Amino acid sequence: MPDYGHPLAFGVFITPTNSPAQAPVQRAVLAEQLGYDLATFQDHPYQPSFHDTWTLLSWVAAKTERIHLAANVHNLPLRGQPAVFARAAASLDLLSGGRFEMGLGAGGFWDAIEAIGGRRLTPGQGVDALSEAIDIMRGVWDAGSREPLRVAGEFYSVNGAKRGPAPAHDIPIWVGALKPRMLRLIGTKGDGWLPSLAYLKPGDLERGNAAIDEAAEAAGRDPREIRRLLNVGELPVEQLIDLALENGTGTFILATDDPATMQRFAAEAIPAVREAVDAERASRGTDRSKPRGAAALAQRREGIDYDAVPPSLVERAVEPGDAGYGRVRANYLRGGSPGIVLRPADAAQVVDAVRFASAHPEVALGVRSGGHGISGRSTNDGGIVIDLGALNSIEVLDEAQRLVRIGPGATWGEVAAALDGRGWALSSGDYGGVGVGGLATAAGVGYLGREHGLTIDHLRAADVVLADGSVVRASAEENAELFWGLRGAGGQLGIVVSFEFEVDEVGDIGWAQLAFDASDTAEFLQAYGTWMEEAPRDTTAFLILGGRAPGQPQVAQLMGVVDSSDPDTIIGRLQPLAEQAPLLQQSVQLVRYADVMGNTQPGPHGGRGEPVSRSALLEHITPEFAEAAARLLAGGAVHWFQLRAVGGAVSDVPEGDTAYPHRSANFALVVMGSDAARVDDAFDALREHFEGLYVSFESDTRPERIDDAWPPAVRERLTSLKLQVDPGNRFRDNFSVLGTEVLRHVE
Ligand SMILES: Cc1cc2nc3c(=O)[nH]c(=O)nc-3n(C[C@H](O)[C@H](O)[C@H](O)COP(=O)(O)OP(=O)(O)OC[C@H]3O[C@@H](n4cnc5c(N)ncnc54)[C@H](O)[C@@H]3O)c2cc1C
Repeated sequence: MPDYGHPLAFGVFITPTNSPAQAPVQRAVLAEQLGYDLATFQDHPYQPSFHDTWTLLSWVAAKTERIHLAANVHNLPLRGQPAVFARAAASLDLLSGGRFEMGLGAGGFWDAIEAIGGRRLTPGQGVDALSEAIDIMRGVWDAGSREPLRVAGEFYSVNGAKRGPAPAHDIPIWVGALKPRMLRLIGTKGDGWLPSLAYLKPGDLERGNAAIDEAAEAAGRDPREIRRLLNVGELPVEQLIDLALENGTGTFILATDDPATMQRFAAEAIPAVREAVDAERASRGTDRSKPRGAAALAQRREGIDYDAVPPSLVERAVEPGDAGYGRVRANYLRGGSPGIVLRPADAAQVVDAVRFASAHPEVALGVRSGGHGISGRSTNDGGIVIDLGALNSIEVLDEAQRLVRIGPGATWGEVAAALDGRGWALSSGDYGGVGVGGLATAAGVGYLGREHGLTIDHLRAADVVLADGSVVRASAEENAELFWGLRGAGGQLGIVVSFEFEVDEVGDIGWAQLAFDASDTAEFLQAYGTWMEEAPRDTTAFLILGGRAPGQPQVAQLMGVVDSSDPDTIIGRLQPLAEQAPLLQQSVQLVRYADVMGNTQPGPHGGRGEPVSRSALLEHITPEFAEAAARLLAGGAVHWFQLRAVGGAVSDVPEGDTAYPHRSANFALVVMGSDAARVDDAFDALREHFEGLYVSFESDTRPERIDDAWPPAVRERLTSLKLQVDPGNRFRDNFSVLGTEVLRHVE
């Protein structure tokens, strides 16, 4: 050191002049076209000839697609409450697809600041205020943490603020600074040092780096965690190389508004500097791994060879102690503390991730797409998680055949929205936040089910990464047995990296939300069952009952779709049930399927503890089952009791066609509670009424559940497939027919 080994980045420093108004925007667009990584603007909110920098950044974000954006640097004293500012930054980061970086300064130009209403601070006060602001900003962005945010500062305080939204990426905080206290602050809690070469005296860079490094080490950090940025003029290539290799500069920001200079620098200097620095680093053996300080390293988990993380994933790996860990550790319903989360960006990186996981056969492995797995096994404690969230593309392959290709990380809300423009829809679930990967490998029981079948019934092909890292395509023609298994038992066979579905034409639909007085619970459950089985296939409705509040009626909520745009038909379908019990509330609307699936809450998952969910499939709501269900509800062990309609088109598919075997069931039941033993006692008493279960709604890890999911003949077929594609049982964490142990010597 100091060559901190940071991947080189090049930016431009553009004057935010407002005359002509579009000039800085055009320069940023040009910078993007020329291949720069970063466009930055000074922030002088008291300067009438300048745009407001925040507004400008937002505008530029909308006019560009790739380039990252930052102020160079924001005038903190005039940017208001840090918590509000952090939220604005998170919004811009989300809107721009993770392209906003936070450049911050403590102040300066105090006469102008005071003249426009800001508070004059001494240099020491400025540092303290900046330190408090950084704590608040990071706290707001830490949306995974559930505790309300409290920072009792002298200059800025928050007292119980809600956290979030989480930005799209870990927004680095780069600080513009020269003086020792500021440099120490950067070493302690900053992510970058951003001085201007023009203001530096000989030796300042060396002294600054040393001060930052010393403070970083004292704080248990690796000095390489702090990027060194530098505003420069058009310097000779040799000087730039020297700055990178001897003074640690990782980001050069060219201060110019002249398009010709921008062009020349991009064409000549940037490639030459990159090439020379790369070559020298290779010959020096410069450490280019992702830096982590002692505090983060101390949190590493046993059994994981962190040094063996494939190079393609080093920048995409999140460990305990990393800033973004809070956003990836949990899923929707279960808390987790994985030892490493790998976030591949494409199929090749999934292969790398699987090979890494397979080299750690004993370590738990979670495969996560949308993170809504009810069993919660897409996170773990101390294991590996492969997070496929970045594989979220949705594309049309064949317009005439309505064939679409979808990545596992897309959510069903995104899919519904993307298909809606063509008047298409794909049978999925009832919640838009659920991921494609988990649901489309299990079944997909949703509001279009009785008319259009399960999600897996629309699958035409899938690309899968197997435990040995091979990538295979499965369809009716290729690897047909794997194609069979993926549709119902996909989670234990490999990782699907892309799905090809044939989708349906779906127009306006009736969306019904009715609340009934179901105090005569058994009778009402039976009425629902009879109505649902007799209803035409265009109608699919789910029923939810919760706990009964003292002195209140037992409420049953019905939510369902009638696939018709004719109001009379819709009402006609609902009427027979509406006559069965007093209606407490009713809402029936004509909507799009995408509206129904737009019911999501954004943000990282904040699940805690262990979900307790039990699943069953039933052919009919018999009087005996209805009575037993009413007793279950009255007993108080479950707080969520849901009956979902299947049947109809779902039952048209022959049992042996997919590894979802329970085609004769007309209903899927899911109950949830908080005390697993109590729920099991109550639920096991109902088992005589059941025909099997749907793995997506089950969190019970007892081996009997495997038999419920896959009856003997199916299980045998699945076992032989599993032994072919995953003989070591690598994908065993979420319902494997080979059990929960690693298998070492399977022939
Ligand atoms: C609020 C909510 C509503 C739901 N509604 C419905 C519904 O209406 N209908 C329905 O059928 N289900 C529903 N589910 C259940 C849901 O289908 C499953 O939980 C599903 O696994 C979630 O998928 P995910 O990708 O979000 O989950 P994740 O937690 O990311 O994954 C769950 C499991 O799926 C497997 N998996 C994930 N990605 C892949 C992949 N790419 N390749 C192979 N295996 C993979 C893994 O075993 C993983 O443990 C709901 C769940 C929730 C929490």
